Amino acid sequence: MRRGRRLRADENIRGLVRETILTPQDFILPIFAVEGEGIKREIESLPGVYHYSVDMLKEVVEEAVNLGIKGIMIFGLPDHKDCCGSEAYADNGIVQRATRKIRELTNDLLVSTDVCMCEYTDNGHCGIIHDGDVDNDETLDYLCKIAVSHAKAGSQMIAPSDMMDGRVYRIREALDKAGFKNVSIMSYSAKYCSAYYGPFRAAANSAPAFGDRKTYQMDPANRREAIREVLYDIEEGADIVMVKPALSYLDIIREVRDTVETPVCAYNVSGEYAMVKAAAKMGLIDEEKIILETLLSMKRAGADIIITYHALEASKLLRR
Ligand SMILES: [Zn+2]
Repeated sequence: MRRGRRLRADENIRGLVRETILTPQDFILPIFAVEGEGIKREIESLPGVYHYSVDMLKEVVEEAVNLGIKGIMIFGLPDHKDCCGSEAYADNGIVQRATRKIRELTNDLLVSTDVCMCEYTDNGHCGIIHDGDVDNDETLDYLCKIAVSHAKAGSQMIAPSDMMDGRVYRIREALDKAGFKNVSIMSYSAKYCSAYYGPFRAAANSAPAFGDRKTYQMDPANRREAIREVLYDIEEGADIVMVKPALSYLDIIREVRDTVETPVCAYNVSGEYAMVKAAAKMGLIDEEKIILETLLSMKRAGADIIITYHALEASKLLRR
């Protein structure tokens, strides 16, 4: 008789035939930097995740390094917002300062930075508004300025999350021209217009003041479009492509994985994180097991890299 159970009989054989193994090296830890001093403040919508002022980053950076995490991604919350997101490309902007600080603190983490405008524009949209909608081509000039200013501050990987057409090509060109040939681009290629981003917008204070993001982020109903977006980005020079969100889009991650040879990143977004935390708080789930199973499913689906707010706690669990 065929007996699948022979290979499940004990932990030794299960370990030998295990197909997917999660490690801290799979994770990128998102870090939220804020203006001010002496601030380490828990984010209400994301329990266990904090806003840090630049002077307070040391602790979390050391923790990440000690746990074997290899990458972080910096998000910034400026005090000042305006129509054209000028703080996003200021030399002394919050992301730029946080980047310089972390590069000073350690060489053991890859520092990547999110490039977008929604945290910096007073309207909360991801670009420059004309006639009630984001103007694609005008926004590209700003994205290039932001990317170059991040690279100047020491960012090693630029991650554009805006979903404007042609931005990867233009950012690559701008980085090269400014002498940053070795700064890589991880593109948010298939970024869906998702309700799962809710807690992040509260954390980053970046909800749009009017309308929604449906004219630039992808329709959750579309699968083939994700492949098109990924192929465009690779053609334009993306070194790594991303699918966001992750949990409701595992089919997309798998399809991208099967279609291209480029490394694939999955973003385990704030809503996915917050649901686990809420269910755990209510005593409905075994939190530790759910965290690892969720992250494992993303890797099994084909993700080489997972951006996750669980990075620190999951790395601790994997050490046991
Ligand atoms: Zn944005």
